[in-house]
Amino acid sequence: MEYTANTARYEKMKYNRCGKSGLLLPAMSLGLWHNFGDCAVYANSKNMLLGAFDLGITHFDLANNYGPSAGSAEETFGKLISEELGPYRDELIVSTKAGYYMWPGPYGEWGSKKNLVASLDQSLKRMKLDYVDIFYHHRPDPNTPLEETMDALAGIVRSGKALYAGISNYNPEDTGKAAVILKDMGVHCLIHQMNYSMFNRQTEKVLDVLDEQGIGSIAFSPLAQGLLTGKYANGIPSDSRAAGHSVFLTKDSITPDKIEKANRLGQLAAERGQSLTQMALAWVLRRDRVTSVILGASRLEQIKENIDALNRAEFADEELARIDAILK
Ligand code: NDP
Repeated sequence: MEYTANTARYEKMKYNRCGKSGLLLPAMSLGLWHNFGDCAVYANSKNMLLGAFDLGITHFDLANNYGPSAGSAEETFGKLISEELGPYRDELIVSTKAGYYMWPGPYGEWGSKKNLVASLDQSLKRMKLDYVDIFYHHRPDPNTPLEETMDALAGIVRSGKALYAGISNYNPEDTGKAAVILKDMGVHCLIHQMNYSMFNRQTEKVLDVLDEQGIGSIAFSPLAQGLLTGKYANGIPSDSRAAGHSVFLTKDSITPDKIEKANRLGQLAAERGQSLTQMALAWVLRRDRVTSVILGASRLEQIKENIDALNRAEFADEELARIDAILK
C-alpha cells in the first residue's frame, strides 16, 4: 500500500536553527550507519525510516560507506525514496559524506577534490537523488591541503549537487581554518558532525569555535553505541550491537567502569522520571549548544522511546553537577 505520512508529524518534534543559517534541523535526526545495509532486514529498515518521518524526523544522515556492504545503506535509502518518500523530498534533509575508504586506488578515500566529487556522484546515483542537502568531508586528511578539500566542497555547493557543506571529526583548529577558507570562497560552513556523548566529551572543545563561526553542531553516537542505554548491565544481549559483528563496539570496550557509571546515571535518570537513554540524549542537547543528535536504532520502538527524551529535556544545575561527578 502506498505510504502516506502521518498528518500530525510536525506537532511533537522540536526544530533548531543550524548555526547562523536559514536551516532548521530536528532536535533528533536518524542515522543509517547500522541496520540499513544489504545485511539488514529491509522491512525493518523501512519501518524505522518511515516511522521516524512520521514522528517529525526530517533529517537522515548517511555516508558513502554505510552498510555493510559499503554503499548499501544509500541504496536502501534510494529504494525508499523512489518507492515511498519521493513525494516528500522537499520535506527531507538528506546528508551524505566522503572521506573514508570507499574504492581501491589513490582516489577512493581521504580529501582530494577527485575523491569528493566522484564519491558524491556515486552517492547520488545510489540514492536516486539529484542533490543532497548536506555534503560532509567525513574526516580530516593530513596530506591534502585544506584549501583543496574546501574548494571541492565549495564547488559541489555551487554545482547544486549539495545545498550546504559540512565537516566531520575536525579538531577545533582545523574547524576554524576550514570555516574561514570556505567563507573566502563565498560558502558558509553549515555544520560540524562530532562524536559526542556523556562517555565522550573530548569534542566539547570544538563548540566555542562553532559559536564564533556561526556553525551548527550535530552529535553522533550520542548513546556511545548503546552503552548509555544500560542494556549491557548484565552481559551482552544477543540482539545488541556488541553481539553482532561490529568492529566499532567490541566486547572489550564494554568495561566494568562504564557499566558502573551507566548504572549510576540510570539511577539519576529514574529520579528524573525517564530512562537512561532518554537522559543521555537530553544531556547532549542541554542548553541548546548542539543543534541535533543523530539517533541510531535497530528497531522503531527505540526511536519512539528516544524521541520522548524531548518531554523532559531540562536539567537543574544540581543534576548536571551530579552527572559531572559520576562521569569524572
Ligand atoms: P548511538 O550511540 O545512539 O547508538 C545507537 C544504538 O544504540 C542503536 O543502534 C541500538 O543498538 C542502541 N539503542 C538506541 N536506542 C535504544 C533504546 N531506546 N533502547 C535500547 N537500545 C537502544 O548512535 P550510533 O553509534 O548508531 O550513531 C548514530 C549515527 O551517527 C549513525 O547512524 C551515523 O549516521 C552517525 N555517525 C557518524 C560518524 C562520523 O564519523 N561522522 C561515526 C559514527 C556514526 P542495538 O539495539 O543494536 O544494541
